[in-house]
Amino acid sequence: MMYRPGRIFLSVPHMGGHEKNYVQKAIEDNWVTTAGPNLVGFEHDICQHTNARYAVALNSGTAAIHMALRLLGVGPGDEVLCSTFTFAASANPILYLGAKPVFIDSEAETWNMCPDTLRDAIEERTNKGKKPKAILVVHLYGMPAKLKELMAVADEYGIPVVEDAAEALGSRYSGHQVGTFGQIGVFSFSDDKIITTSAGGAIITAEQELADKALFLANHANDAAPNDDHAELGYNYRLSNISAGIGRGQLEVLELRVKQRREVFNLYRSQLESIEGLAFLQEPKTSFSNRWLTTVLLPEGQQPESIRKALEEENIESRLLCKPLHLQPLFADSLYFGDGLSEKLYNRGLCLPSSSSLQEEELEKVVKTMKKLLEVV
Ligand SMILES: *Cc1c(COP(=O)(O)O)cnc(C)c1O
Repeated sequence: MMYRPGRIFLSVPHMGGHEKNYVQKAIEDNWVTTAGPNLVGFEHDICQHTNARYAVALNSGTAAIHMALRLLGVGPGDEVLCSTFTFAASANPILYLGAKPVFIDSEAETWNMCPDTLRDAIEERTNKGKKPKAILVVHLYGMPAKLKELMAVADEYGIPVVEDAAEALGSRYSGHQVGTFGQIGVFSFSDDKIITTSAGGAIITAEQELADKALFLANHANDAAPNDDHAELGYNYRLSNISAGIGRGQLEVLELRVKQRREVFNLYRSQLESIEGLAFLQEPKTSFSNRWLTTVLLPEGQQPESIRKALEEENIESRLLCKPLHLQPLFADSLYFGDGLSEKLYNRGLCLPSSSSLQEEELEKVVKTMKKLLEVV
């Protein structure tokens, strides 16, 4: 992020106050390590908040996705069904493992993976003798995907699901926290997410075997064998006990941060929804979104990139919606199933500044600038 005085950022860290106590204690007690009480506490607190049975804290959300797919046995040549409307970090780990993403487009209600398209893709790949190894469902911008329908399809064909809930900590579907529906859920605590450890991530799961294996692989697959022989390929993916201390402080204020982000969304909606042709993503009855980022679809004829640049002129940071992965050069050879909805959304949408720490004057400035740009004042 570019720093300029008075800049209104898209999404910044927002400390709760107790983070420094946990960090200070770790330093005083010399737990400046990748094991220790903050890690134990942070994982415990993640379980408390999400109602997950096991949590393993890792050093990024990307590492957590990589780990999740590895735990499910994804390997060279395997196919993984993945949302196309997402950030590249969702799908990069598929390539790390030598596997192939098969991209699935969105449905209009939540912008996330379409269950009907998922079924079509499974049918077609299975008929070709390439039964998919896993399904990676993203809850983009904090909005829960249609989990009931998606899980029904996944269960019908016996394919495990990883939920990329990197942006959706605190979001709920049918009253349950997202990340707890699939075999493995993934969170990110990178510096622009709803809570942060500066960099970090985690997996959650109900299966002890998976959690144990994740811990083992995250620490170089170091087993207790006296000759230090390594039988398995490991990673250096453990979160530091210092970062976990920040995470403990942040989890104390997660509910407040969700409330604040939802207030930001509500303010934008109340101030901007009268603009003809401008649309907000509604929350379906089944869902409670953390509203990590407020997104808008601009009126017909408005170019998101022009609006983004014009906001930039006012020292306001905004962001285009995700460019669908099947349209990106890195994934040009990948299979894709869908009707092009994500591309339409990409061509019409914009993310507005959504930090939980936004001040009233800042929000007013964004609203005023948007109204001016869309010529309604
Ligand atoms: C942030 C993010 C990731 C990656 O998390 P990092 O902690 O930055 O590695 C993965 N998927 C989505 C949807 C994200 O927003």
